[in-house]
Amino acid sequence: MNHFQYVDNDLFCEKVAVKDIASQVGTPFYLYSHATLTRHIRGFQESFASVPHLVCFSVKANSNLAVLKIFINNGAGLDIVSGGELYRGLKAGCSADKIVYSGVGKSAREIREALEAGILMFNVESPQELEQINAIAGEMGKKAPVAIRVNPDVDPQTHPYISTGMKKAKFGINIQEAVQEYRKAATLPNIEVIGVDCHIGSQLTKLSPFVDAIEKIRLLVATLQEEGFAIRYLDLGGGLGITYEDETPPDFDGYAQAIINATKGLNLTLVFEPGRVLTGNAGILVCKVLYTKKGEVKNFVISDGAMNDLARPALYGAFQGILPVDRSQQDTLVADVVGPICESGDFFARDREIAAFQPGDLLAVTSAGAYGFTMSSNYNSRPRVPEILVKEDQILTVRERESYENLIQGENIPDNL
Ligand SMILES: *Cc1c(COP(=O)(O)O)cnc(C)c1O
Repeated sequence: MNHFQYVDNDLFCEKVAVKDIASQVGTPFYLYSHATLTRHIRGFQESFASVPHLVCFSVKANSNLAVLKIFINNGAGLDIVSGGELYRGLKAGCSADKIVYSGVGKSAREIREALEAGILMFNVESPQELEQINAIAGEMGKKAPVAIRVNPDVDPQTHPYISTGMKKAKFGINIQEAVQEYRKAATLPNIEVIGVDCHIGSQLTKLSPFVDAIEKIRLLVATLQEEGFAIRYLDLGGGLGITYEDETPPDFDGYAQAIINATKGLNLTLVFEPGRVLTGNAGILVCKVLYTKKGEVKNFVISDGAMNDLARPALYGAFQGILPVDRSQQDTLVADVVGPICESGDFFARDREIAAFQPGDLLAVTSAGAYGFTMSSNYNSRPRVPEILVKEDQILTVRERESYENLIQGENIPDNL
C-alpha cells in the first residue's frame, strides 16, 4: 500500500491532502508518512525473524528525533557516524547497547562520549583509530567493544560517490590485512574484539555484491574463530537500494533470503545498518512553483525549494521524481525544475517531461525521505524547511521551519570592528 496516493486529483499522504498541509505550514516542507516508516521497519525486521539480528537504522539518512523514535519503538537500534548523532540517538530514547558507531574520523571527544554512553560497538576503520580507542578506554578504565570494518573489495555497481567497499575507497581496512589487525587488537588491553563489519556502498540494486562480500568475509571469520577470537556480531552495513525512477532493487524478503543463505552456519548475530531503504520512499519534499520561464532552448520551472533543501540532484546528478500535487490539469511540458539559488547546479530535474506547472502550483519531489533534510544547509541564507509527519489524519510538525534569527544564531560582530 502506497501512502502517497491521489484521491481523485489531489495528492494525499495517508488521510491528509498535501495541499491542506501546504496551506497550514507554507512551502517548502518535508513530509513523512508514519505508516510507511512503520511498514518499512517492521518488514525489514520480519524478513530476518528466523535469525538472531539487530537492525541499526543509519541515522545520517534521516536524523529527525521523531523518525528515530518510530524505529526505536519497533525494536531498532541505531548506526551513528558522529557525536552529534550519538546525542540525537540518546535523546530519541535509544538504549546505548543498541548503538554501533561507524566512520573513518572519530575524534577523541566522540570516542570518549561513546564509551561513556556504553555503546554496543565501534566499527573501527584504521590501525590508528584502534590505538586511539584503546588509549581512551584505558584512561576511562573501560574496555571498548570493537568490530573492524573490513573492505572486501567488491564493486557494488552503484554511483562512485556512494561506493565504499572497493580497494581505492577511504573506508575500512583491506581484508587481506584484517587478520593482522585483529591479532594486534587482541594484544591491546582495553579492547574487546566482538565483531566483523563491512559496508560496501549505498543504493545497491543487486544482491550479488552483498553475497560476494559475505563469501570473502566468511573466510576471515573462520580464520579468526580458529585463532580463538570470540566473534559474536557480523555487521553487514546498509546499502539496500530503492526505486527512484525505474530501478528494481530486491525486496526485504529477497535480500534477507540471500543473506541468510550466505551466512548459514556462522552462528553470529547479524547487524544491519539500513538507511535509505527505510526512509527514502517514506518522504517527499513539497515546493511551490514561483515562476515559469521560457528560455531560448529550455523551459524552466522555478520552485521555492532548492539544492540547499535537497542536494542529491546537484551532488550526484541523482534522479528525483516530480509530481503535481493537483493533477487535474493534464498537459505536460519538457522542462528543468530549478531553485532560486545562484548556482547552475541548482536543479531537481533536467529536460524532464512534467506537468505543465503554473505559478502557484504545488509540486512534490518524491523519494526525498533519505539524505534529504539531513544534507540540507543554509546556503544563500535560506532558513531550513520544516519536517512534517503525517500519522493517519494527524499533521505533526516534527521540526519547525527556521527563522531569520536562527540563521545568525551564534554569530557576533566583535566590538573592535
Ligand atoms: C551511509 C551508511 C549506511 C547506510 O547506507 P544506506 O545506503 O542508506 O542504507 C550504513 N552504514 C554505514 C557505515 C554508512 O556509512
